[in-house]
Amino acid sequence: MWKLPQPTIDQVMSELYTAMTYKDGKLKYKLSPSEKADIQEIYDEYESVKGLGNAKLKGPAFTKETLAAMEASYGEVQQVGRLSKLRQSLLLNAGTCPCCGILPADELDHHLPKVDFKLLSIYPRNLVALCHKCNNKKRTVDGIDENKRFIHVYYDNVPVDVQFLFAQILIKGGGLVVRYEVKKIAELSELLYKQITFQTERVNFHGRIDPEVNIYLSSFAASLQLAYEGFGKAGVEITLKRSAEHAQKIFGLNHWRTVLLFGLAAYGDFCDGGFYEPLKLVRL
Ligand SMILES: [Zn+2]
Repeated sequence: MWKLPQPTIDQVMSELYTAMTYKDGKLKYKLSPSEKADIQEIYDEYESVKGLGNAKLKGPAFTKETLAAMEASYGEVQQVGRLSKLRQSLLLNAGTCPCCGILPADELDHHLPKVDFKLLSIYPRNLVALCHKCNNKKRTVDGIDENKRFIHVYYDNVPVDVQFLFAQILIKGGGLVVRYEVKKIAELSELLYKQITFQTERVNFHGRIDPEVNIYLSSFAASLQLAYEGFGKAGVEITLKRSAEHAQKIFGLNHWRTVLLFGLAAYGDFCDGGFYEPLKLVRL
């Protein structure tokens, strides 16, 4: 969650050629040598500004026809397109949606929207795998206003070793109330803090997470009961802590699952048998 390895860009010009060519080798649209050089320059600019939108990236000097052909070239990155392998590798690279951490990342989002940044339509580092729900909510966020921008999972320096996502947990009315919060810690810049807060609200993370928490925790019911019957409160604490460490390895420290398990391990009342009722367990 929040951060993904950067896709390779050593094939971008040959991918561009493929996108502009039919299967039988016939050209769909001919880019001149100078246009190709200018497109490479736009790609280099994207790297140097780390995906932050600016006027130059829109390619104001390009002809309308070339811009339209570049936008249309994304068709080849669709499931049955000539660049479907690129699509698959980007989706695999993500696994779970880096934005919500809930659903599989099964769609590609243009970090800078292709309607405005047509030259970046098939540039791999402008393509971020998201789940359908997050992609749908992001839609027109154009990245120009930096306070209202989604973080860039390939470039932004989001801390991985320090916790910034926290869970307030309370046993209430026989259920578990979990409230997640992004905290402005020293290692998180003011800007990143604003962006993470903006995007979690935009994709309705807080509204979507409750059922996920319940489903996830129910998978621990049997192991927590066994731990409690065998070793009491300490047994539950260690089970949750070890599970949290495992989740950290797989999903990262600031993933909601990791945060939840560490939070529960530190919640004495929950560990001391308080988990029975919320997890619908019956005492023997
Ligand atoms: Zn998502």
